Amino acid sequence: MDIANHKYIRDVNTSIIIQTLLKYEPISRIDIAKKTKLNKSTVTRIISDLITKELVIELGNSKIAHFGRKPILLTTNKNAGHVVSIEIDHKMIYGILTNLKGDILVERKETIKNTEKDIIKYQIINFIDNLIEKKQKSKYGIIGIACGIHGMVSDNETIKFAPYLKWEDFDLKKILEKHYKINVFIDNEANFSVIGEYSFYNNFSNMVSLNIKTGIGMGIIMNKDLYSGNTGYAGEIGHMIIVPKGIKCPCGNEGCFEQYASESAFIHNLMSKYNSNFNLDDILNSTNNQEVENLLDYLALGLNNIITILNLEAIIINSSLFKKIPQFITRLQKRLISNMNTNYQLLLSKLGKKACTLGGTTIVIKNFYGIENTVFNSF
Ligand SMILES: [Zn+2]
Repeated sequence: MDIANHKYIRDVNTSIIIQTLLKYEPISRIDIAKKTKLNKSTVTRIISDLITKELVIELGNSKIAHFGRKPILLTTNKNAGHVVSIEIDHKMIYGILTNLKGDILVERKETIKNTEKDIIKYQIINFIDNLIEKKQKSKYGIIGIACGIHGMVSDNETIKFAPYLKWEDFDLKKILEKHYKINVFIDNEANFSVIGEYSFYNNFSNMVSLNIKTGIGMGIIMNKDLYSGNTGYAGEIGHMIIVPKGIKCPCGNEGCFEQYASESAFIHNLMSKYNSNFNLDDILNSTNNQEVENLLDYLALGLNNIITILNLEAIIINSSLFKKIPQFITRLQKRLISNMNTNYQLLLSKLGKKACTLGGTTIVIKNFYGIENTVFNSF
């Protein structure tokens, strides 16, 4: 297959400089030299090469220097190319077109019409075409496509199993790469989400992002890198058993975490308790609703296990219920009473539903620049 190789940076020092620019821009050549410990002439040479390639631009004089010759500030050229990133859950395709800093230029969503592999592939291509046609002209064009899936994605980026989409062994990457002739990156949505959180907001070396939706997924950053396990399936925390002989789960087990603590389990419980006759906002705002108490109890049980196993710096909760009622974080924290691991932060996601697609964007940008660690200062 003839895929355009959008990997422009191969030299280690150049990667280090790009990484530093993304994290601290606008920044001067001298400050890049200080932060990277590269000598000034190396920095000057590489920067002029990057300017020629239109990957870095000069902004003008720094206002912070009070005497002498003021250094010129540099930034990456965020308009040198574009990224397409989409997320596919069981009902919707959500997608963004961004520049090379992850600024969202176009956003769209669409209901999935038919999940059959041979039918949905055309809907996905049409959806991506719609995003691409909105882009402005740029030096490098579309540098890659990312695709976050609500399901299990193996380490070779094949979709192994997506229960709600009824997909097994679906090689969407191959289909899209053949069609677009550019790099396509596919991963589980929780993995993309934690990369998004890490790169745009929460730069903790050891953290997880807990995505509480129809199911519960967890993305893990360990030593500043995604941990995806032996074959790519780490973090399937929704299927951790928390109740022996409990509620049956589509995975084949009984008593799985997501049967008790996912948003769909919570809504299902409310439906059966109130016979579909309830106001969700009233229930969420009430301080003593039994179903809310149960949800927080089960979440605390699962979280306690996660914290005990991983010894984390931060846990990011991505949930629309928590977004509505941020005090749930405090109520959850009060339930985590173990003395064993206390030095961590429990935080609400600021990226919310954009976490997955922004994480996908990060992966594409990281590959384009050939860098190890991507942290943006854009927020
Ligand atoms: Zn299960």
